[in-house]
Amino acid sequence: MNEYALRALTLLEETFGKGGDARTFFSPGRANLIGEHIDYNGGRVLPCSLSLGTYAAARRRDDGRILLVSADMPGETVSALYAELLSLPQEPGSYSRFGWGAYPLGVCAKLARAGFSSGGFEMAVTGSLPRGSGLSSSASLEILTCAVISELYGADLDGTAAARLSLEAERDCAGVNCGIMDQFVCAVGRRGEAVLLDTHTLDYEYIPFDTGDCELLIMNTRKPRRLADSKYNERRAECAEALRLINENRLSPYPSLCAIAPEEFPAAGRALPPALLRRARHAVTENARTKLAADAMRRRDMAELGRLFNASHDSLRDDYEVTGRELDSIVNAARAQEGVLGARMTGAGFGGCAIALALRGKAGDAARNIARIYHAETGYECEILEASTADAPFGGARG
Ligand code: ADP
Ligand code: MG
Repeated sequence: MNEYALRALTLLEETFGKGGDARTFFSPGRANLIGEHIDYNGGRVLPCSLSLGTYAAARRRDDGRILLVSADMPGETVSALYAELLSLPQEPGSYSRFGWGAYPLGVCAKLARAGFSSGGFEMAVTGSLPRGSGLSSSASLEILTCAVISELYGADLDGTAAARLSLEAERDCAGVNCGIMDQFVCAVGRRGEAVLLDTHTLDYEYIPFDTGDCELLIMNTRKPRRLADSKYNERRAECAEALRLINENRLSPYPSLCAIAPEEFPAAGRALPPALLRRARHAVTENARTKLAADAMRRRDMAELGRLFNASHDSLRDDYEVTGRELDSIVNAARAQEGVLGARMTGAGFGGCAIALALRGKAGDAARNIARIYHAETGYECEILEASTADAPFGGARG
């Protein structure tokens, strides 16, 4: 058994006692390879599930009580009655008293309301992901809860339903406004593959992510994402306003910014003031880059994928303005290294993580140099993680 799974099992037994039929579970975190800030603009995104994630040990209880403990949140054991959740208003105010438990309890409530009935259980969790760093530890915890409930109570849940209900839990119960990508890839990701997800239709396909001679470096700036939430909401509002202005005098309105083809954009964007023009241009060009990136991955053309990483970051820095000093510093440091094919921020921005594609033999030296340069420029000690892709609970069997 993996050391984290063992830790979760030990914590379960130490906290709630031995006995019963405990099982262990894993749900990955995710890195978005490309397609940033377009999951709420109807675009295509290309994330992969990571071998870093969240582990649980869990077993049923017959008294209708849900008990939760996390090795990562000492002293914050959570207790709720399943029946009580059914009548609790689905709003952050009702869930805030549960602390981190708002995520798993929100998922329980959403599953119950959608007819995936369950009951009491106890669960101990521990994660190998940095939390609050843009690798989606929150979605990982939500999908983990879906996996636990569907296993313990035989709920016939598929990946799409798990992702949708987890997203609703994050929005309504935890009060975090986000797109569907995180929950989706944490639910259906697979080892050796990325997920090309159309966020408008939720159609998805697996794209081989065979890095060949390359390694994916995950570079955690360790800069707290203080601005991320407010700026995220601001960007969403700006995109909604840009779409409204573009559609104002159109007979057939675009359903989303990403429905605008790059060649249509110069005409469509004429209606926009300069700042909104840049936001919309990022959405349109990023969506096009995502398609090109999937094509490059199918051809195993990592050099092209690296170039697209660079172009994506530049657009997020200049047009979308969500990078900031630390992400720009770490990305520039990565790009300056021999053997690095490209680098970009990943996640919401303003801190959190960036990713780089590096030639395998060069990745170690590159990581050391990046850490040194980044520290000299910003004063932060970064964390550089080597992660591989991993199977998610609802990824299904390979065809
Ligand atoms: P991100 O999803 O980028 O990691 P968020 O702020 O969205 O950051 O989610 C982090 C929150 O998710 C934590 O503050 C905590 O409430 C919850 N969480 C994630 N992982 C765990 C864990 N292993 N144990 C307890 N809570 C967790
Ligand atoms: Mg999150």
